[in-house]
Amino acid sequence: MCGILGAVSNRNVAREIRLGLYGLQHRGEQGAGIAISNGQHCWVHKGRGLVTQVFPDEVIEEAEGNFGIGYTRYSTVGDLTEKEMFVNIQPFQGEFHGESFQLGHNGNLVDLEESRKEAESKGYQFKTTSDTEVIVGLLSVSKKKDFIEALLDVLPKLKGAFSLVILYKNKVIGVRDRFGIRPLCLGHNESSFILASESCAFHTIKGRLLFDIQPGEIIILDENGINSQLGDRPFIWASDPKPKLQLCIFELVYFARPDSVIDGQPVYFYRRKAGEFLAEDHPVEVDEEKNTIVIAVPDSGRYYDLGFSQASGIPLEEGIFRNRYFATRTFLTPRNTDRAALQELKFRPLRKVVHGKRVVLIEDSVIRANVAPTIVAMLREEGAIEVHLRVGSSPICFTCHLGIDMATRGELIAASLSVEEVRKHIQADTLAHLSQERMIEASGFKREDLSMGCFTGDYPVTID
Ligand code: SF4
Repeated sequence: MCGILGAVSNRNVAREIRLGLYGLQHRGEQGAGIAISNGQHCWVHKGRGLVTQVFPDEVIEEAEGNFGIGYTRYSTVGDLTEKEMFVNIQPFQGEFHGESFQLGHNGNLVDLEESRKEAESKGYQFKTTSDTEVIVGLLSVSKKKDFIEALLDVLPKLKGAFSLVILYKNKVIGVRDRFGIRPLCLGHNESSFILASESCAFHTIKGRLLFDIQPGEIIILDENGINSQLGDRPFIWASDPKPKLQLCIFELVYFARPDSVIDGQPVYFYRRKAGEFLAEDHPVEVDEEKNTIVIAVPDSGRYYDLGFSQASGIPLEEGIFRNRYFATRTFLTPRNTDRAALQELKFRPLRKVVHGKRVVLIEDSVIRANVAPTIVAMLREEGAIEVHLRVGSSPICFTCHLGIDMATRGELIAASLSVEEVRKHIQADTLAHLSQERMIEASGFKREDLSMGCFTGDYPVTID
């Protein structure tokens, strides 16, 4: 999972790209990159860390051009050493008939061997461990005369989840895979058209959402506006199998920001509705004497908690302080990080709030169950007399090969333990999940418009 952004503007776009990336920081905290073109020359800078760390004023002031793309990194494949972490930060540069291009990718490609061999046999030398470089390789060795023709030739060879932004001379190109697994949308403000992973990126640049890029669509932005080369929108590059939305439901559950609207559905509404459904389907008995309260695991349980509280009538409290100087979203930390230790640094229950209370603790999901046990133990230490965990999604029993870091079944607690066994592991008094049917209902989408592979084992794209 990553954040991608691209913009064309009638003024220097560099600061706007940086501002937009602030709005996509939650999609990746391990690194960031920006490429800016004036149509002839391209300026590129990238580095490890948050957007504010990689792009201080003195760096971004060097960039000049009206066309640009940006990227925030979250790794799901292969990059655990410092060196690999750095070289895998996008945008990636390729060369098309002597002209450089830059590419940013959100998602994950599968079954790459054939494409990798094709690029290598035609002279491309891979420099990273990233799946994304296969796209760069295939474009770089293409014999097509025109860059868009080359892209239309390469895209059908790709398998997996991909939303792309590409900077080529005075063009910014956006692409969504045939299932629209990862989001991509277009917005505008008074000076620019902007492509972004999520509509929340437009808020920091006083922009507004125009529309979502459709599954299988390619869109070109240049100084003349939208799609000047392709004709009317939408231009659908994908044909067989036919494009059909199967959005990752985990975007709504956890990944996307609550103020984003994805394919017409506000993320906030999923979370709030899921909380209401949890209260209806898995109520916690209210006992006046024991003084029951609802609290969220910040920030992932927020809005679910609101829904639960309003539907149940149990008062909502801020019961856990989150130290925001630990900027990371725990799920985004590399796999070799001690996530349990991180929780203890990041969270502190408020004794005055939880002491002597029955706590309904709300969380978005349980994946490895290395957050919940620590928080439940902390709540008990601070005097909570009962902890009832309610989870705004179903048990995650299957891996994801489409861009979320759930690579092996062994790390998924629900793959090997029943809900009751997980409850015992977490040491909660009760544990209940939202059912898959209720997740679909809360999403506002039809079942067939969603990828729910990690919940059901049924994926839009399978690995050969
Ligand atoms: S398998 Fe799960 S995380 Fe992966 S794309 Fe599908 S719903 Fe999203």
